[in-house]
Amino acid sequence: MASVLWTLGLRKGYKPAVGFDLRATATASRARTATLSTAHGTIETPVFMPVGTRGTVRTQTLAQLERLGAPILLANTYHLLARPGPEVFERFGGLHPWMGWKGSILTDSGGFQIFSLAEGRAMTEEGAEFRHPSAGIGMLLTPERSIAMQRAIGSDIMMVLDQCIPSTSPYAQAKAAMELTHRWAKRSLDARGSSAQQLFAIVQGACFDDLRRESAAALTAIGGFDGYAIGGLAVGESRAQREDITELTTQLLPADRPRYLMGVGTPLDLLEGVHRGVDMFDCILPTALAQHGKAFTSHGRIDLRRGVHKLAEQPLDATCGCEACTLYSRSYLHHLVKCEEPLGWQLLSFHNLTFYVKLMREIRASIAADTFAAFYAERRKALELTDQDNPSGPRPKLREPKLVTRGAFGIAVSPQGFASIEHLRSGEVMHSVNDPNLEAERVYVAQSATIARALTGDGPPLVIWDVGLGAGHNALALLRALDAAPTHAPVELVSFEHDLDAFRLALANTGPFAHLRHAAPHILAHRGEHVRDRLRWRLVEGDFLETFAAEAAPDVIFYDPFSTKVDTAMWSLQALRALYVHLTRPAELFTYSASTAVRSSLLLAGFHVARGVASGPKDETTIALRLGDDSRGLFARHRLLDHAWLVRRARSTARFAADVPLEQHAELERLIDAHPQFAI
Ligand SMILES: [Zn+2]
Repeated sequence: MASVLWTLGLRKGYKPAVGFDLRATATASRARTATLSTAHGTIETPVFMPVGTRGTVRTQTLAQLERLGAPILLANTYHLLARPGPEVFERFGGLHPWMGWKGSILTDSGGFQIFSLAEGRAMTEEGAEFRHPSAGIGMLLTPERSIAMQRAIGSDIMMVLDQCIPSTSPYAQAKAAMELTHRWAKRSLDARGSSAQQLFAIVQGACFDDLRRESAAALTAIGGFDGYAIGGLAVGESRAQREDITELTTQLLPADRPRYLMGVGTPLDLLEGVHRGVDMFDCILPTALAQHGKAFTSHGRIDLRRGVHKLAEQPLDATCGCEACTLYSRSYLHHLVKCEEPLGWQLLSFHNLTFYVKLMREIRASIAADTFAAFYAERRKALELTDQDNPSGPRPKLREPKLVTRGAFGIAVSPQGFASIEHLRSGEVMHSVNDPNLEAERVYVAQSATIARALTGDGPPLVIWDVGLGAGHNALALLRALDAAPTHAPVELVSFEHDLDAFRLALANTGPFAHLRHAAPHILAHRGEHVRDRLRWRLVEGDFLETFAAEAAPDVIFYDPFSTKVDTAMWSLQALRALYVHLTRPAELFTYSASTAVRSSLLLAGFHVARGVASGPKDETTIALRLGDDSRGLFARHRLLDHAWLVRRARSTARFAADVPLEQHAELERLIDAHPQFAI
């Protein structure tokens, strides 16, 4: 096969006008607009490239693609290599005439698909070995063969073959993959030969700051590339990590070359990428989400499968001029989606692509007018919204509460319809945005390796501390899990609370606080204790920081005080140190806070610190671990903060708790950097 491809590569090519001209850069942002010229036209950047994996953007006709106004598509070399195979492109003179597309095309190298799809793959110095997906035979994709195939396809922009690894890979693996990628980049450049097709290099290095620096420097030093991609993201890291690495990498790349963030993402991700200096994006989301009835609109993301749309007469998005929005009602689109009619997928794909292309057009206009910073601030909020016309989730019908305030607390009802307890003086609301029962289950119960083990049967007796009983959401989430298990290890649940008015207020209003329609919390409030087979639930009244030392050390801690503003002492370094010292065996602590200062205090107190699940508007919550002789189970279950977090921390303006004196900062910085969890 190689010889066929080599011959194809040497056929007479076109003579493209190649160039990248910066037009404007934004104030107070790294956003920029430019024109990128190829043999098939001029592309205004920032640009979104619809993904035409197999030489077709799924469900979209050529006429639709032209109406869409996207100047460039992405095609996948790996898929086209498998089917139809290079001989078809030889016959037709490339992908452009074969699919009838007159705009530009970027081809990837095939590396990512081998990483994510191929079975029996192995990486060698020579290239990537894998089994041919349809023919089932062993194949070797080398940098030279990838370039030869991309030359046969006749794309306007080719990508070097790179070794993709998960962005959360350990340092040594990330470094080895990056160095191989550099050698392959050089070989890809040599293989381009006299071809007039552009070639982009790919910066790798997972989430390690120094590797990203090294990669950008090495590829820039090779020289001769027409642009640079940021690879290896959108494969396992958090959004914050991705944004940090993107921001770092764009600063390291030459300003006079286009920058392409591969495989990212949602409309919000695109906006964030542009703000950080990215020029080009691709993602399958617009068509992939459309297949599941999901649409991006000016009123937030809408799920057309929901029954609420069955009788909806209005268009999907009144501000959109696409055919899905101008010709049909939401009711009809809902019907198509529910019946899995291909037309539903087709229309929603076109709408979603239109949404992306329009967003990029508006972004470019705002950069040109130097209003991007304001545009960014406004759209960032809007793009985070889910369906504003029909908020989802349970909406309990609130009876008139018998008692709306008690002591320092009142009942607050969120716009989503969730009842919560509000601290009247500060205005702070417990579990403010999302369903409090769901947050309690996800953040405090479901993540715990210890509780999971206890729920499987016997095991040793557990002590669980519920710090900040509040309206009892976390304690009741645990009780529900225990109730649902056929049997469980003996549990001693200790709830700490200094002001029981919140709990009593919620108990008096079990209409909105339906989780308290359970005998146990009423008995607890009455007697201070509830005992049943294998569960003892006790209430400890008073200031946690004064009472906890008298209690037996816990295995699990739900740490849920009010914020640092209201419950300042609870979040102090001093308090967390005292808590850590009290622990005598491996323990897990869960908290909603993901703040840099809180995480720093936990590390300084002696905990290992891991990322917890997202909750409501938070990307992450926090898990702290007290490790012991056998903590393998905890290590395996939790994602410890790594170097990338240290990098992010260094940029934070609030790195320490309020009780840490300024003169200690430098010393404590050193202690955090030297924490054993960052020693790899
Ligand atoms: Zn539309």
